[in-house]
Amino acid sequence: MPELPEVEIVRRTLSPLLGQRMMAVSVSGPDVIRGLSAEAFAAQLVGRQVDSLERRGKYLLIGLTPKATVLVHLRMTGRLRLADATAPLERHTHVRIALESGGELRYTDQRRFGGFWVVGEGTVPDGFRTLGPEPLSGDLAAGHVHQKLSRRSGPIKAALLDQRLIAGIGNIYADESLFRARLHPATPAHTLSEADVGRLLTAVRQTLASAIDHHGTTISDFLDGRGEPGLNAQQLKVYGRQGLSCEGCGGVIEKIRIAGRGTHYCPSCQQPPRIRKVR
Ligand SMILES: [Zn+2]
Repeated sequence: MPELPEVEIVRRTLSPLLGQRMMAVSVSGPDVIRGLSAEAFAAQLVGRQVDSLERRGKYLLIGLTPKATVLVHLRMTGRLRLADATAPLERHTHVRIALESGGELRYTDQRRFGGFWVVGEGTVPDGFRTLGPEPLSGDLAAGHVHQKLSRRSGPIKAALLDQRLIAGIGNIYADESLFRARLHPATPAHTLSEADVGRLLTAVRQTLASAIDHHGTTISDFLDGRGEPGLNAQQLKVYGRQGLSCEGCGGVIEKIRIAGRGTHYCPSCQQPPRIRKVR
């Protein structure tokens, strides 16, 4: 599932959209248009020009002139890419937006959990309105996060996945960040010291920035706005590496379930919470 780095790579690789007018919109999978009919969605877009591409958490924001904003969330298998209008349609293509240049912006989504919203028309998702701070901006302060975590008894892994605490982290980068910070994923969030939280936020920033530098992680589905995969999978230290040896200590990476999610960690580099507490 695309997380912050992958959405950021999609944003960057869609930059040829900037300055282009949307000429026609064709929707064959209307359920990916949220809170609006396909016809109303098309009417909002046609004739407008793309003048900004931004990202907030895992949402892509397409800014238009005359003023309107389209939100896109890729969820599990959504992909946005630019294509020649004459290129064969991929399976699961649900939306095609014809551009002034003659190209098309195409949205494919095998599982159809992703979708489009037009801000101010229909309903903007709750998950967008309640997003926490951006981890790669200056808005994320250890003191603030520590205070929020002090009221949570659940595992730190679950807290990292909560988009209201920090925007943009999903299962891959939660596991990778916890490994980088040498924190056990089951550690109760409220037991972390402010220094632990500071170390964790540094790890989150380094993990996400490095993933962006490596063009995002392609495990099975992610492709950028040009249809190219990411190169970050080879950089992963724990995610998907259960049974393989830890680069830090030579021990064996394990996979457990926390908060209903497969969770990968090194039992010796990431000490269990009980041992940490008596130190
Ligand atoms: Zn290790």
